[in-house]
Amino acid sequence: MNNNTDKPQNIDSNKMPDENGFFGAYGGRFVPPMLEPIMKEIGDAYLEIKDSKEFKDELYYLQKHYTGRPSPIFHAKNLSDKIGGAQIYLKREDLNHTGAHKINHCLGEALLAKKMGKKKIIAETGAGQHGVALATAAALLGLECDIYMGEVDIAKEHPNVVRMNILGAKVIPATHGLKTLKEAVDAAFDAYVKDPINQLYAIGSVVGPHPFPMMVRDFQAVVGQEAKEQFTELTGKLPNNLVACVGGGSNAIGLFTEFLNDDDVNIIGVEPAGTSFKTGEHAATLTLGTPGTIHGFKCYLLQDENGEPAPVNTIASGLDYPGVGPQHSYLKDIKRVKYETINDKEAIAAFMELSREEGIIPALESAHAVAHAMKMAKDMPKDETILINLSGRGDKDIDFIVENYGKELGITIQ
Ligand SMILES: *Cc1c(COP(=O)(O)O)cnc(C)c1O
Repeated sequence: MNNNTDKPQNIDSNKMPDENGFFGAYGGRFVPPMLEPIMKEIGDAYLEIKDSKEFKDELYYLQKHYTGRPSPIFHAKNLSDKIGGAQIYLKREDLNHTGAHKINHCLGEALLAKKMGKKKIIAETGAGQHGVALATAAALLGLECDIYMGEVDIAKEHPNVVRMNILGAKVIPATHGLKTLKEAVDAAFDAYVKDPINQLYAIGSVVGPHPFPMMVRDFQAVVGQEAKEQFTELTGKLPNNLVACVGGGSNAIGLFTEFLNDDDVNIIGVEPAGTSFKTGEHAATLTLGTPGTIHGFKCYLLQDENGEPAPVNTIASGLDYPGVGPQHSYLKDIKRVKYETINDKEAIAAFMELSREEGIIPALESAHAVAHAMKMAKDMPKDETILINLSGRGDKDIDFIVENYGKELGITIQ
C-alpha cells in the first residue's frame, strides 16, 4: 500500500505534555482504576508506533491520496479588499474528504486501533461530525464502529445519522437525561468500560484523559506544518496572525503547534459567545471558565458551584462543550495564545460574508474564526496578514440557517 513514501511527516511536534500527560496544571488522567492500565497501554502503543516508518508512511499515504492533503491556502482577496485592512488567508481544511479537519485525527486513531489489534472503534458524537469522520475511517480500514448519540441529536441531525448508517457504523441512542452530547459520552464510556480490550474509544478532540490530548494534537499538527511551508512559499514570510475557532480545540492546536516557537506570530483562539454571557447561553470556556475536571482531565471549565459542568449553548454545535483542551488552558495561562469570543450573530454574518465574497460556505464553527479575523483586519495595515484555519465546510448548516435566519438574511427560495 505504501508506494508513496517520499515525505513522511514528523508528528513529534512538541515536547509537551510531561510523562503523566500534564500541560502545566492541566490534563492528566483521572479515570477509574480499571481503565488506568488500558489508557497506559494506548499511550505506550502510540509512542511506540508513531515514530515507526511503517505507521508514518501509511498515515502519509492516506492523508495524501484519501483525504486530499495538503489542503490549499487561499488568499481571500475579495474579502480583504472589502474590509480594507489586513490580508486574510484561509487554510482550506473544508476541502478534506468528509469536509472538515476531523478526518485528520480519525484516520490516526483508527490506524492505531488496527495496529493494536482492536476490532472496533467507538465514540460519542453530538452533531454527528465526529461520528461521520470516524465511521469513514472505520469503513476504510475494516474496523467495526459504534457511535453513541443522544436521542435528541439523532432526531435533529438526521443526514449525519443516515451517513453513518450507510458507512456501516452502528448508531446507538443515549436515552437518559437530556439525551444530548453529555449523555452520549456517558453511554460510550459505559460501553467502553465493558470491553476495553477489543474496543478503542476514539476521542473527537484534544480532550479526555492522557494520551488523547497529545495524540489528537499530533495527528492534527500536519495542518500547521503544511501551512508554514505553503504560506512562506506564497508570501515570502510567516503569517503575522493565526486565527482558529476553539471547541475542544483540535483544529486550533493543529494550526498553532508548528508556530508556537515563532514569537513574532500572534496567535488567537476564538470561542463561541452564543447569545449572551449568561450561564447556559454561551460556551466561552477559556474566557469565562475556571479550572476544574471533566471527562478524565483538568482544564478550564464552565461549572456550577459543585464542579458539575454548566449547560452551554451556541449555534455551532461543534463548539458546544463546557471543557476545553488542557494545552489551550496552559497556553492561555502562559499568555502564548490569546482567546477571544464571537457571538452567534457575528458568526452568521461572517458565514454569509465569506459565502458571498469568496464563494466559500464555511461551517458555522469556522465562521467564528472568520468573524474574528474580519474584526481584526479592519484596524490593521494592508500589508499585515491573518491566516484562518477554515476547519470545515458549511453544507451541514445551510438548512438550519435558511429555516431560522433566511428571512432576515434575505435568502429567498422559490
Ligand atoms: C468539530 C468541529 C470543530 C470543533 O472542534 P475542535 O476540536 O475545537 O476543532 C470546529 N470546526 C468544525 C468544522 C468541526 O466539525
